This record gives sequence, structure tokens and C-alpha cells, in this order.
Amino acid sequence: MIYLDPSSKLINSPEFAASVAERFFLGLAPNGQPFFAINVPFPEGTENLVSLRDVGTLLSDLEIGAVMHAVALANWHDVHPRCARCGEPTISILGGSTRKCPACEAEHYPRTDSAVIVLVRDREDRILLGRQKIWPAKRFSTFAGFLEPGESLEACVVREVAEEAGVSLSEIKYLGSQPWPFPASIMLSFTAVTDNPEDAEADGEEIEAIRWYTREQIAEDIASGELLLPPGISIARRMIELWYGQPLEGVEAWR
Ligand SMILES: [Zn+2]
Repeated sequence: MIYLDPSSKLINSPEFAASVAERFFLGLAPNGQPFFAINVPFPEGTENLVSLRDVGTLLSDLEIGAVMHAVALANWHDVHPRCARCGEPTISILGGSTRKCPACEAEHYPRTDSAVIVLVRDREDRILLGRQKIWPAKRFSTFAGFLEPGESLEACVVREVAEEAGVSLSEIKYLGSQPWPFPASIMLSFTAVTDNPEDAEADGEEIEAIRWYTREQIAEDIASGELLLPPGISIARRMIELWYGQPLEGVEAWR
């Protein structure tokens, strides 16, 4: 669990020095105010806690940036108590941005896993959405997958969509990115065009169903409850709305 602490009283205090492993310096707000995250074990019997997924849409840009950073850092610290080189315990240094092994002096840095997310269109300007088995019923979204070692982002886009939906792509264009620290990803978003929409087929493993959507059909399916879009905080939702031309209303399904 993470508390965000916008107090500057912690700087140079003995308490901060003594507990640096549990406190991470996140940075300075534009007004100079420092932000820290305090990473503490989940207290037993605590009620009324909310997750980032629940409050994400209520936060300001500054707050969401600080929280994303805090969650990503905490996820990394929690699973890197030991040195990957020699196995000895590591310590947090530099305000929590790095861990160091006192035994072999190796420094360890937070890892970010790159994933691509793709909005696939055809020449009639329809979009292809897919449905993962693990999602809530009626949820469809864009295609996504992790970058493999040594792979370019463009090759990853082509491979993921070929694997999951069976179509080939061209005109791959970068749109933007979104940190997704669940636990340590960044989503890099692209649009791409396929010339063989008739070959689209769910792989039956990760993706259990696919659908082509016109703007008219997507509005209709949302209105009837036949389609649940990804949540407003997600880059997938923004990609779909970018194509649609305006925000889409509709029940949101987390995950
Ligand atoms: Zn070591």
C-alpha cells in the first residue's frame, strides 16, 4: 500500500534517513513542493481502501504522474530484495530510485516492460476489436502484447496482431504512450491498416472473439449494452475515441 506524502518535513530528517527503504522520492511539483511515496505493508483489518484503478480518473495530471511513479517504484522494490548477480540482500539508495548490493557493489535499476497496443483499421475505416477470455463479459478492446528482446516496436505490432487476429498490417504510425505500472509496463500505442480484413480470426487462445466496427455499429452496441469498452483511464479507450471522433459514453469495465 502506498501513501503519497506531499510534506517537505521529511527531507533530511532522521526518520527519513532511517526508513529510506520504505520512502521513495518522487520529484518536485512545479511549485517546488517535494513528493514522497511511503510504501507500507497492507494493514490488517483496514477498510475503505481504494485502488489506483478506482480513483485514476479522479486525479489531476500531477497526481496521476506521481501515483504511477510511486506504484511502479513500489512494485519494483517489493520484488528485488536481493542482488541478481550474487544473491546477497540489496539496499535502497538515492531516494529509492536505485538499489545497491553492499556485497558486490552492483547497482540495480527499476525495469520497465515495453508493450505495444494497436488500433487496427481497414480501408473502409472500420476498426477491429478483440476480446480476451479473462475480461468481463462483453468487453472488447484493441490488441496488445509485450515486446520481445531484440524486437523493434514495428515488428512487435505486426507480430502481435498476426498472432491474435490473423491480419497483416502496414502504415504503422506511433500515437503516444501511457505508463501502466501493473506491475511495470509502458504501453506504446500505434495505429495500423490492414488490407486483408476478411482474414481476421481470433486465435482462440488469448483472444476468443473479434469484431469489426463501423462508427454507427459501435455506438449502437454501446447503447444496447452489447459492447463494454475499456475504462476511461486506459490508452485503449482514448485510441478508440480518437478514431470515433468524440468521447464515447458507456459502462466501464475495469481490468
Ligand atoms: Zn551482489
